[in-house]
Amino acid sequence: MLTGKPGTDDRTRERKIMEKASPETWVVHSGEITQATRDLAPPLHPASTFERAENGGYPGKHMYSRISSPAYETLESLLSRLEGGCDAQVFASGMAAGSAVLQALRAEDRLVVPRAMYWGMRNWIHRFADDFKLEVASYPNSDLDAIASLLEEKPTKLLWIETPANPTWEVTDIDAACSLAHRHGALVLVDSTVASPVLSQPLSLGADFVLHSATKYLNGHSDVVAGALIAKCDGEFWQRIRFARTHAGAVLGPFEAWLLLRGLRTLFLRVRAASDNALRIAEALSARPEVSHVLYPGLPTHSGHLVAARQMKGGFGGMLSARFAGGEAKARDVAARLKVFKRATSLGSVESFVEHRASIEGPGTLCPADLLRFSVGIEPLADLLADLDRAIAAR
Ligand SMILES: *Cc1c(COP(=O)(O)O)cnc(C)c1O
Repeated sequence: MLTGKPGTDDRTRERKIMEKASPETWVVHSGEITQATRDLAPPLHPASTFERAENGGYPGKHMYSRISSPAYETLESLLSRLEGGCDAQVFASGMAAGSAVLQALRAEDRLVVPRAMYWGMRNWIHRFADDFKLEVASYPNSDLDAIASLLEEKPTKLLWIETPANPTWEVTDIDAACSLAHRHGALVLVDSTVASPVLSQPLSLGADFVLHSATKYLNGHSDVVAGALIAKCDGEFWQRIRFARTHAGAVLGPFEAWLLLRGLRTLFLRVRAASDNALRIAEALSARPEVSHVLYPGLPTHSGHLVAARQMKGGFGGMLSARFAGGEAKARDVAARLKVFKRATSLGSVESFVEHRASIEGPGTLCPADLLRFSVGIEPLADLLADLDRAIAAR
C-alpha cells in the first residue's frame, strides 16, 4: 500500500482554495473529497439507516434516509452553491418538489401563478388547490401590471414564476416581480428549470425559492427523474417545505442522486452548447417561409428578449418553439420526418427532442396546434440544421 498521508496543512490549503473556486469548479469536482481513500468520484451511499452511539446519539449525523442521507447531502450543497442559496432539498421528481411547496401552504392561502407554465404543474396546482382549498389566480406571464393588481387585490402567500415558460418561452421580469411581491408580503418561487443555474440566478434577483425539475438540464442524460428546491434563506415557509419532504417522503433514491452528481459535472458545458445551438437554429428557422413564428427569447423579435437579456447570462437556453404556416398538419409532418431530433417529451438532455405539445397536453391546452417544441441538444449544429432542412423542405 502506498503511504504518503495527505498533510493536514495541505488539506487546509486545498479547502481554502476550493472555497474560493467558482461553483463551476465545484460541480466539475462533485464537491469536496472527504473520504479517507480520496476517491475522485463520489461514493454511492445506499444505507437507509445509520448506527447510533452508546449514548444514543448519531455520530454520523444521519438517522434515517427519509430525513437526511450522505446519499444526497453533497448534491444538496452543490445545488445550494450553484443557486447562491442557504439550503437545498432534493426530491423524487420536479413535481414532488412542487408538491412540497403546495403542502407547505395552508388552506385559504392564496397562490398567484403564471398562465403559461409547465402543463403538468399547472394542472396539478389547480387540482390540488380545489381539493385543499387554496385560492389560485393567474397572470399573463410578462404582465407586471397584472401581477401588481392581483397582489393588491388580496393578501397573497406565494407568487409562482416560470421563466422562460413552457412552451412559448414567455419571460417574466424576476427582479421587478419580486419587488412587487415583497412589497405586498408575498414570497416568490421561480421554476428555473429551463434557464438552469448556468444562465440565471433567481435568488440573486430577489426570489425566495428556486425550483428545478432536475430531470432536465441538471441531470441532462435522460436517465433520472428528480427535483430540487433551493432557498435563499431559512424561514418558516422553508421549514414547512423541509417538513413536507421528510413526512410526505418524496426523497430521491441514492442511485439517482449519484447519477445526478455525475450529470452535473458537465452542466456548464452542456447548457452552453445547447444554448449556442438553439440560437443558431432559431435564426435559421426564422429565415424559412414554412415557419410563421419562432418563439425563442434569444431573438430580438421575441417579446421577452430585453428582459431575458438582462436576467439570463451567457445564453438564452436550449428550448425553442416554431409555428408552421401550414398549420397542425405541417407541424406533425415535420415532427414525423425528423431523425436526429427524437420525438419525445422532456427537455434539457444531451440529445435533441421535438414534440407536438398540443397533442401531448390534450383537451384544454393553451398550446397552438401548429407549434413544435424543440429541446436542442449538444449534437454538432450542422447535423441538427440538416435534419430540420430535410424535414421542413419535404412535401
Ligand atoms: C419537467 C418539468 C417539471 C416537472 O418535473 P418532473 O421532474 O417531470 O416531475 C416542472 N417544471 C418544468 C418547467 C418542467 O419542464
